[in-house]
Amino acid sequence: MSQKVYNFNAGPAILPKEVLLKAQKELLDYHGIGMSVMEISHRTKEYEEINDSATALFRELMGLDDSYKLLFLGGGGSTQFAMLPMNLLPKDRTATYVETGTWAEKAIKEAKRFGTVHIAASSKDKNHSYIPKLNGSDVPADSVYLHITSNNTIFGTQWHEFPKVAVPLVCDMSSDILSRRLNFKDFSLIYGGAQKNIGPAGVTIVIIKDDLLAMCSDAIPTIFNYKTHAAENSLYNTPPVFPIYIVKLVLEWMKEKGGLAVIEEQNRAKQEVIYDTIGQNSDYYFGHAQKDSRSWMNITFRLPTAVLEEKFAKDSKAAGFIGLKGHRSVGGIRASLYNAMPLEGAEKLAEFMQKFRRTN
Ligand SMILES: *Cc1c(COP(=O)(O)O)cnc(C)c1O
Repeated sequence: MSQKVYNFNAGPAILPKEVLLKAQKELLDYHGIGMSVMEISHRTKEYEEINDSATALFRELMGLDDSYKLLFLGGGGSTQFAMLPMNLLPKDRTATYVETGTWAEKAIKEAKRFGTVHIAASSKDKNHSYIPKLNGSDVPADSVYLHITSNNTIFGTQWHEFPKVAVPLVCDMSSDILSRRLNFKDFSLIYGGAQKNIGPAGVTIVIIKDDLLAMCSDAIPTIFNYKTHAAENSLYNTPPVFPIYIVKLVLEWMKEKGGLAVIEEQNRAKQEVIYDTIGQNSDYYFGHAQKDSRSWMNITFRLPTAVLEEKFAKDSKAAGFIGLKGHRSVGGIRASLYNAMPLEGAEKLAEFMQKFRRTN
């Protein structure tokens, strides 16, 4: 056996051991059919059952009824930066965006290719270390939608209170989807790549409310139209069958654990351990995010010097803590604590942080 590791990768990221073991067990012979799920048609009843139960589990965990359609698409979160305005932002209309980091900037760049973009608020002035305050009046009433990024994976900030607005709320939840309870009904469209919190890379989830779906353009290519995939139950073309199967197993794992209430409590406890350690050593570890904007998923912090940051990344890796080197936009360290990370992982990292400080 190799050394026990704690996987703090930002994405693709840690998956529940139980899910990987189940996938391993079923890999060669899926439910007695004598073949792998990777080898069968997406038109079989076996795959249909995977598609349907993944959809039902999403609705159940999020408390959504069938006025929301669930789409399993390819292309990653980045494809949604373009697909969203392609469907919903006509040339002569405005969409409003909040600029809270690299991913939001990329979404804004694509939207500008289709129509007018209004930036209602930005955190760029302080290297995206906070979630800007947003009043309803900052969002023009004729915006086709307001786009926000619920968790800023790179900078380590997260929305903890969502803006109340009269226009449809659209959210990139790539890195914190299903990590906590939310009033999901307040959103008209939610999207995210699976690989941060709920599965492997290769499938992107789009959850869209019927009234917004009805507004999608018919002047765009069939494959990019949300209506196509909604009408065909995500079976218009071959979906990423294996990633969707793993997502289904992850959702079952979440449900077995007790659903979002339990997941949220565990995520709360995990981030507390690390932020408390930063707080108790505030002359050595410097959190990047302002306190009220701190992410529970990605914790970003600096050390007194770049040399110490290098050493922390190197020594932690040698001790079995993987993926802690921060993104170059912030520097320092980033610890990602997605759903599958056990509390023990956060506690062991906190111990390592204390020890590193004493010896360096
Ligand atoms: C990772 C990430 C993306 C990009 O996802 P891809 O699947 O790589 O295209 C978009 N938004 C957020 C918030 C992310 O964390």
